[in-house]
Amino acid sequence: MCGIVGYIGTRPALPILIRGLRSLEYRGYDSAGVATPGTDGLRIVKASGRLDRLIERVEQTVDDTATIGIAHTRWATHGPPTEANAHPHADCSGAVAVVHNGIIENFSELKLWLEKSGHRFVSETDTEVLAHLIEEYHENDLSASVRAALRHLRGTYGLAVMHAAHPREIVVARLGSPIVIGIGTGETLVASDPSALVGTTRNVMYLDDGEMARLDASGVQVTTLQAAPVEKALQEIQWTEKEIEKGGFAHYMLKEMHEQPETVRSALRGRLASDGGVTLGAFSDLRAALKDMRRIQIIACGSAYYASLVGAQMIERLARIPVSVDLASEYRYREPVMPSRTALLAVSQSGETADTLAALRLAKNAGLMTMGIVNAVGSTIAREVDAGIYNHAGPEIGVASTKAFVSQLSVFLVFALALGRERGLPPDEAERIAKALELLPMQIERVLRSRDQVAEWASQLSEKRHVMYLGRTLHYPIALEGALKLKEVSYLHAEGYASGEMKHGPIAMVEAGFPVVALAPHDAVFEKVKNNLEEVRARGAKTFAVTTPEGLRTLGRAADNALEIPTTHPLVQPILSVIPLQMLAYETAVAKGLDVDKPRNLAKSVTVE
Ligand code: GLU
Repeated sequence: MCGIVGYIGTRPALPILIRGLRSLEYRGYDSAGVATPGTDGLRIVKASGRLDRLIERVEQTVDDTATIGIAHTRWATHGPPTEANAHPHADCSGAVAVVHNGIIENFSELKLWLEKSGHRFVSETDTEVLAHLIEEYHENDLSASVRAALRHLRGTYGLAVMHAAHPREIVVARLGSPIVIGIGTGETLVASDPSALVGTTRNVMYLDDGEMARLDASGVQVTTLQAAPVEKALQEIQWTEKEIEKGGFAHYMLKEMHEQPETVRSALRGRLASDGGVTLGAFSDLRAALKDMRRIQIIACGSAYYASLVGAQMIERLARIPVSVDLASEYRYREPVMPSRTALLAVSQSGETADTLAALRLAKNAGLMTMGIVNAVGSTIAREVDAGIYNHAGPEIGVASTKAFVSQLSVFLVFALALGRERGLPPDEAERIAKALELLPMQIERVLRSRDQVAEWASQLSEKRHVMYLGRTLHYPIALEGALKLKEVSYLHAEGYASGEMKHGPIAMVEAGFPVVALAPHDAVFEKVKNNLEEVRARGAKTFAVTTPEGLRTLGRAADNALEIPTTHPLVQPILSVIPLQMLAYETAVAKGLDVDKPRNLAKSVTVE
């Protein structure tokens, strides 16, 4: 998920590696490290925190004449962001160095097996198993050793490997996490992202999933993981450095919206089987306690609060446990009742949200069992809860949350399934949801292709001052989130309402041309939402509906504008419906010429009360 850089050539490697890491800094990371040949084996220098700390250490300890090296910025997924957990990881002998992006799903089994055969581990990461596996299978050909090791892995990786016994080569491989190779004159580079290469070369070659390559100073040989040779064409990067950082997208928000198919896959990976079976590591210890729980109390802020409102409905429907959701900033001051046998669930992307943390501590002191859904590994909330589920969404840079929100919804559904399975949810229903979640990434891709239509809606909205968002049941919080997105990036006044509430007040605002965006998939409450649309339209509103194919056929004149999204399982539908609303907020902000990634007055992680 984070950054890899490697170099082999004739110039000193270190300055090139460090410059590469610098250009990957924008992605967010929590620690960094570098490996170069030392006098006796490889020399690995690591530091937690900022890159400057690594640079200081490198300057103190390493002479910079080595002409080969690999480097990494880590965004922790397994084990907190400590120095020991930073990459590169070594084997027992110190001959192997590995940098890795992604997640090795079966690392616990592999670690157990390797420990039994005498390997000693020094980190809590999933990555370290790879260094030991390469040691275990070491033979004269480094590519063959890496290939043999990779046969054991389940999960995703982009990786680079160095070996003291093979001082003039680097082996790289890719499965689900990007690897790009840069070809210079008499020098070859590798990175997880082309922005780390353009300082040196613009001639690149992208590995595809299931491919690996051997790099030396004179070039590269690409093969499949099964050792069949692959012919690859060189491409020339045309983008500017700024464009490259954003993967060719105009803004991080746009890039992150396009990462959402992968976000969903990462949230499910290793957790949900096609038959609806759920494996949630942290919860296996709490199984008995969870069985005993009578209520769940969720606390969160901002988009995480809206994700929680959807999550609460998912849990209630699948596990029939009563769930309440509070804004953390309210919970901490409203003297909440905290009965025994209540589990408290804190939801926060950064894991550092000040109000959520304070509310969590309050509940902990009252003796509640605590859980978390957190994206940043090793963050304060992740450390303080009794059990947690990580989002594995990778760093989110755009201030307005998109992929973290979609990830929270996906994780909530997996959690609800896990609780449901314990409490009598029929296996065939769990299986239906699991199948729907498997298809979801493809469906998100389809929705993302509606950009032109959304942009047309945005051109209408950008002329307005107020926008109303409507939805019911699972889509009511999606309406709230849609309105929040629009407020955050386009500064328009937007409100989300449960559509049944319109008559109880807000319909008074409706006048000719008043824009109303409704979430109207063809579900159990479709007819109701359709009626609500008719009502506002009768009073002059201009209506925009996000709907499914069957809805589109029956909406008729209730929708002045309709955008079609695919139909999925009712509990999965909100994860899909939010995508056009994110796009709408984005396009409206762009139409108004605003700074989408850094909206005024906002901070990414709210660490003050
Ligand atoms: N799963 C690895 C770790 O936690 C890789 C993290 C990354 O992609 O930066 O160390």
